[in-house]
Amino acid sequence: MPAWDYDIVIVGAGPAGLTAGIYAGRARLKTLLLEKLIHGGQVMTTDLVENYPGFPEGISGFELSDRMRKQAERFGLEFRSGEVLDLEPGPDGHLLRLEGEELRSGAVIIASGARYRSLGVPGEKEFTGKGVSFCATCDGALYRGETIAVVGGGDTALTDSLFLCRFAEKIHLIHRRNAFRGVKFLQEQIFAQEKKGKVEIHWDTVVQEIQGQQAVEAVELKNVKTGELSRLPVAGVFIFVGITPNTAWLQGRVPVDEWGFVLTNADMATSIPGIFAAGDVRSKLLRQIATAVGDGAIAAFAAGEYLAEHHPR
Ligand code: NAP
Repeated sequence: MPAWDYDIVIVGAGPAGLTAGIYAGRARLKTLLLEKLIHGGQVMTTDLVENYPGFPEGISGFELSDRMRKQAERFGLEFRSGEVLDLEPGPDGHLLRLEGEELRSGAVIIASGARYRSLGVPGEKEFTGKGVSFCATCDGALYRGETIAVVGGGDTALTDSLFLCRFAEKIHLIHRRNAFRGVKFLQEQIFAQEKKGKVEIHWDTVVQEIQGQQAVEAVELKNVKTGELSRLPVAGVFIFVGITPNTAWLQGRVPVDEWGFVLTNADMATSIPGIFAAGDVRSKLLRQIATAVGDGAIAAFAAGEYLAEHHPR
């Protein structure tokens, strides 16, 4: 018998972790899913998921997550809440340190997700899902024909503003400096939209407050050079000021890209044998529920193959 507590420990219970759990459970691998708070990750705070296949009318993030959890339970996945503080890789199993406890696992799937950076201004939290969005792919289509604001000056703000041009009547692009951080190629496309009157750029400007009754109605802006305040009526505010992977607990134990996202190959394997990553925490092109579940399925399958090859029962 292998000298570890679990064949696989999955860290994080968003769609990637839950899907990995379903696949590992069906493969009859002894698997534990650890989650810091409650299951679901970012999807839990998504009011209506409209781009996950199979739900033509959309489904609430909570319900989708709850269904995935029940499915994983049905196949024998063990759940526990607990925060992993450190992961120490080893040739004969990996050691996971939790508060007052250690667990040893044959393979580990890192599915701890990422979080959007926020502005920290009044109204932002209150109106998230009611006009404040961090995802153009998810919510862009809701703003067909509307006037909206986009905050940020990096590649995401520029790319997603161009995407949002397909839906919105007008985009106010709000950037805190007088030059974009995003690449020139994207800047050129934004300036072309500015010429058409589709995009209006507010340089040296920050959002002071997001205002509304039931949903977003306006943003209060401040010009950081002149101190001038203004109120801009908008139906939505897209905030693209960066995304941070939840990798502090890994303490540099696995290779990451320049922004801190975990590097894997197409089989979701990191360069550390037996350690895999899936979902938003991974260095990848598109962070969506649909891509997270694909990652989770591959990671669990690959972890099973790894265990069969290196640690046959
Ligand atoms: P980013 O490059 O870190 O840019 C964040 C932007 O938000 C910056 O313009 C920054 O302003 C601004 N910002 C940060 N905190 C703010 C605050 N509190 N208030 C107002 N503005 C704030 O993040 P990103 O755009 O998400 O891109 C992340 C990485 O993914 C980048 O390396 C990017 O190249 C890559 N990416 C690539 C593509 C592509 O098409 N190839 C698409 C998306 C993302 P400052 O400029 O003043 O710092």
